[in-house]
Amino acid sequence: MAMASKKLVLLVTLLAAAGIPFSRGSWNIRMPTARTLEAVAARLETDVAAAAAAPVIHALRPLLGSAGELGRRAGVPCDSWRLAVETYNKRDWSTVPASCESYVGHYMLGGHYRRDSRAVVDEAVAYAEGIQLAGNGKEVWVFDVDETSLSNLPYYAKHGFGTELYNATSFDEYVLEGSAPVLPETQRLFKKLISLGIKPVFLTGRTEDKRNVTEANLRSQGYSGWANLLLKPMGFHATTIAYKSGERQKLQDAGYVIVGNIGDQWSDILGTPEGARTFKLPDPLYYIG
Ligand SMILES: [Mg+2]
Repeated sequence: MAMASKKLVLLVTLLAAAGIPFSRGSWNIRMPTARTLEAVAARLETDVAAAAAAPVIHALRPLLGSAGELGRRAGVPCDSWRLAVETYNKRDWSTVPASCESYVGHYMLGGHYRRDSRAVVDEAVAYAEGIQLAGNGKEVWVFDVDETSLSNLPYYAKHGFGTELYNATSFDEYVLEGSAPVLPETQRLFKKLISLGIKPVFLTGRTEDKRNVTEANLRSQGYSGWANLLLKPMGFHATTIAYKSGERQKLQDAGYVIVGNIGDQWSDILGTPEGARTFKLPDPLYYIG
């Protein structure tokens, strides 16, 4: 670049930095005073020094997809809402915020839900591989069913991804179809445990009248070899935490050692005895206390 051009570029840059108006079409430029240019130069020098003193920690780039853009599009921070739900900071909620329907839908149907589930199961598998078995065949691992072993996403996709109030009648109709698809990451853990000699036990809030359809659904989706399928007795009234921890206590009393416990709800993994280690799968669709 010729020296004259370089000077012109520098001048325009300084004018822009100084906020001095100019018109590119007519070149109607008001020439800055020497004092103005001096001040601009000093400010630029200060900015450069400040940038050098504060090293970049990470070159952040805007995220696309459910982690970033969709949260903003929803008009509310749906990603923050989901984090609060998953960390059990937000409790006793009845529906997904209406404005987060699209966010949750994209999270569940896109790759994010699967990736989050994979991260959980990777940890569970690594933990299981390190367990020293006693050799008496008493080690068991508790699995929840809905949104843990089987997915009800086909139902929730038709009902606003959790933005509609729970409807027991229509949900039961769906369950009784026995068509819920497998959650493949959980099944990976299930099969790994069997290969290691750890017995899976299903413990579900589904009631006893759904035993046949649940068992058939599990088998049709590739599950086999479980030690037990525990369903809630008809007319049993207690919180999920009380019911499930009570069933785990019975397992322990029968001499089993619960080496692991995995579920999508906090109520699956809270309450003594929880199991030697618990794993929480993602579920932004609904809350069961
Ligand atoms: Mg569940």
